Amino acid sequence: MNEENLRKLYERLGIAESPAGPPPPPLPAPLTIVEAPAAPPSPETRAAEAIYSPLERPVETRSTLSLPLLLVSIGAIVAALVLIVRQTGSPPAPPKPPVAVAPSPAPAPPFAATPTAPPVAPPEPVTPPSAPPMDPPPPPPAPPLPPELTPAEKRAARIRRNGGNDASEASVARALDWLVRHQASTGEWEAMHFERKCPLTASCQVKAAPGDPLYTPGATGLALLAFMGAGFSPSDGPHAKTISLGLAWLVEHQNSEGGITHDLRVLFYNQAVATRALCEAAALTRDDRYRSAAQKALDYLGRNQLADGGWNYFHDPGEVERNDASITGWVAFAIRAADEAGLEVPPDMKGRVRDFFVRRTDAKTGEVIYANRDPGAGRRGSGAAALGLFVRGLLGTDDPDTARKAAARVVAARPDWEKFQDAQVKSNNKEFPFSPDQNMAGWYYGTEAMYRLGGENWSAWNGAARDLLVENQVRAGHRAGSWEPELSYIGREGGRVFSTAIGVMILTIYARER
Ligand SMILES: [Zn+2]
Repeated sequence: MNEENLRKLYERLGIAESPAGPPPPPLPAPLTIVEAPAAPPSPETRAAEAIYSPLERPVETRSTLSLPLLLVSIGAIVAALVLIVRQTGSPPAPPKPPVAVAPSPAPAPPFAATPTAPPVAPPEPVTPPSAPPMDPPPPPPAPPLPPELTPAEKRAARIRRNGGNDASEASVARALDWLVRHQASTGEWEAMHFERKCPLTASCQVKAAPGDPLYTPGATGLALLAFMGAGFSPSDGPHAKTISLGLAWLVEHQNSEGGITHDLRVLFYNQAVATRALCEAAALTRDDRYRSAAQKALDYLGRNQLADGGWNYFHDPGEVERNDASITGWVAFAIRAADEAGLEVPPDMKGRVRDFFVRRTDAKTGEVIYANRDPGAGRRGSGAAALGLFVRGLLGTDDPDTARKAAARVVAARPDWEKFQDAQVKSNNKEFPFSPDQNMAGWYYGTEAMYRLGGENWSAWNGAARDLLVENQVRAGHRAGSWEPELSYIGREGGRVFSTAIGVMILTIYARER
């Protein structure tokens, strides 16, 4: 984002802060996790369903044709009743109206162990968004790359073939430079106090989205994943020192049980992200230090999997179990990395994660219920739908119809800078904590899910996400290379390290095998 755009955003937000203002004093940041209340299906949800209806008719005859048939039936019944009344003068009990003609969408139902029926869409026509046609034939398998290419050449070829370009690669390099400049000398990336590395006269910190010190292990894990995802190794190459120092910090902060924490308690966002980083390091190096730490971290996750198959921010004995789809999704990313490293995923962990997402999925819409109790009880954002789509397919075989609906839901909510900006204004004004559809975490989940799916869905998604990130990366000052933290609870907790690392993770997906 250039300085002018940033100034405009701050003006809209009523924040009297210049992009290059003096550094704010370190603030003690209480852990306040505020989530959006359960919302009725958005217009985007209904629009997403509208995309599919023409294509689904052949396979969904019962459901998609039932409304007109019901309406015809009602007409016939009413006509018969009129006749009966005219002939007998005493009408029988009127038929109950079918639920399919309920005039307004119901609020999202509370979580239930088995998915409950979704609110019935109103019968009025909706305007389809300008999304591409869905349900395309599966993309043809890509031809193998020429064997004479070096690993770096193969990587570059994969990036171009899968949707990256020179601009996205240059953007990644600028972001990694920002991360290098803001790593603590002890190896970690501080979620909040990274500004210790900034000049006194040009801090990168933003008061409204400073990051929370609690998330430093997670911020460190994400920064490491950004470097490794960009093709850099802890054992050699230009970023070896940066990466190995960060990994050493994680290993040093692993407790005897396998939990990774710089605090007394283990926060499971941190644990999942750090576990994934250690697994990826183990896959890249076969270094026993990383392998051993990764295995212990995985085992810790396995021992702390909740009865319903998920994880929560913190686990407190005696609390009513709260399973969080986002944290559980990050564990699924760690499981993928563990498999790639040849580590041993605890028995039943994969199946229970997948079953959790299947139970949380509303098969009629492809949406996933984010949490069974607050914060975020009943919320159904596109990010959760993307995670469900990703995990069900990664750890099993997804139902094709559910997958199509989920993909439509996700693609309809693809990254949109104007909507993202509007959501931040509302979030900062406390109208809602953040947008369930336009936030950077959701953009990452959508990227993973759509990349895995490929084809038209991926093209539509990447066409929106890639250039948006490149165009809105900060280019000037000490902040150059970073992305502004979003002014929502995500920014307040993850801060600029989160937004910058996740931006890299989105822009380096092209290098993954799929
Ligand atoms: Zn800085």
